[in-house]
Amino acid sequence: MAKFKTVVMTSVFIVFLLCGCESKAEPNVSDDISMTRDVFAMDTFMNMKAYGSNAEKALSEAEKRVYSLENELSVTSESSDIWSINHSQGEAVTICDDTAKLVNKAIEIGDKTNGALDITLYPVLKEWGFTGEEYKIPEQSVLNELLSYVDYSKIDIEGNTIIVPEKAEIDLGAVAKGYTGDEIMKIFKENGVKSAIVSLGGNVQALGSKPDGSDWKVAVRNPFSPDTDMCVITISDKAVITSGNYERFFTDDNGNRYWHILDPADGRPADNGLVSVTVIGDCGLDCDALSTALFVEGYENTKDFLRNNDGYDLILVTDDNIIFYTEGLIESFSNISDMEAEVIKLD
Ligand code: ADP
Ligand code: MG
Repeated sequence: MAKFKTVVMTSVFIVFLLCGCESKAEPNVSDDISMTRDVFAMDTFMNMKAYGSNAEKALSEAEKRVYSLENELSVTSESSDIWSINHSQGEAVTICDDTAKLVNKAIEIGDKTNGALDITLYPVLKEWGFTGEEYKIPEQSVLNELLSYVDYSKIDIEGNTIIVPEKAEIDLGAVAKGYTGDEIMKIFKENGVKSAIVSLGGNVQALGSKPDGSDWKVAVRNPFSPDTDMCVITISDKAVITSGNYERFFTDDNGNRYWHILDPADGRPADNGLVSVTVIGDCGLDCDALSTALFVEGYENTKDFLRNNDGYDLILVTDDNIIFYTEGLIESFSNISDMEAEVIKLD
């Protein structure tokens, strides 16, 4: 078997976000004080920055919440809800509110995207090795056998009780970080923080605007050259969440790339014309679920989604090097790449 080259990237970052270890204070133009905190959780480098006198306390509480969500939602930790579900052999399991919320949201977005988001793909992800680092290219017959257990519509969830069919297993990797961003924002607000921004790998989420009242600038990576930025958008009070084919992948001896977002239709890396999907909206959980789902859906189905659903802006990159973005971004979008950029026309 080929020696695989693996790459894990984060897709969006905050142009001016400072990295540091632990918390540190720095003077700010508006005489406000900002504190930053670095956390490694959910297999992701996270950076949080908050302004104001309560920033330190808010960051500490947020850090604790991140670790507790990791414990609840991790697919590999034996004490997690997901582990209990995946070892339940078809029996009912009692889960916490967070897990129930994420499962329900994943089902809802699966329904809205023709089943593109399917949290029961986990056995297939394992077969490819995307859950560890031992990658391999499975035979289609093996994938087909595993796909016979994949079907999120067979999940039975009622309040805090869930039943997942025997042999089915779930993974909330497509939605956990988006929800974590929402929960961090909630804690910041509860602590009186009015201005903050976090970067959780490919996810950026902002509370309010910068302390001087101006918008935050968020850069989105160029999927064809992930060390460089493709565009910058200005936002306040929004999540900016990207799924791309460059974030976690391996290549075989012939240079073919296999990435971590799978198409439930055939169990193979989703290859429907899009190489990156960025979703901008109010709710990190929704945006995270959608970035994965629309990546699988491809360009035309994503346009259909936009016709039927309000409240999101998108930046799509097609495999023929065109950036498409929604009308709502016209004022805030700057293309800093040499790719063509076009507004998405919905009729
Ligand atoms: P990341 O978390 O890497 O930034 P995503 O939010 O797009 O990117 O989530 C990708 C993760 O979602 C994969 O690592 C895997 O755990 C899971 N996944 C992959 N394909 C699907 C799918 N079609 N439906 C649901 N979950 C998926
Ligand atoms: Mg996602």
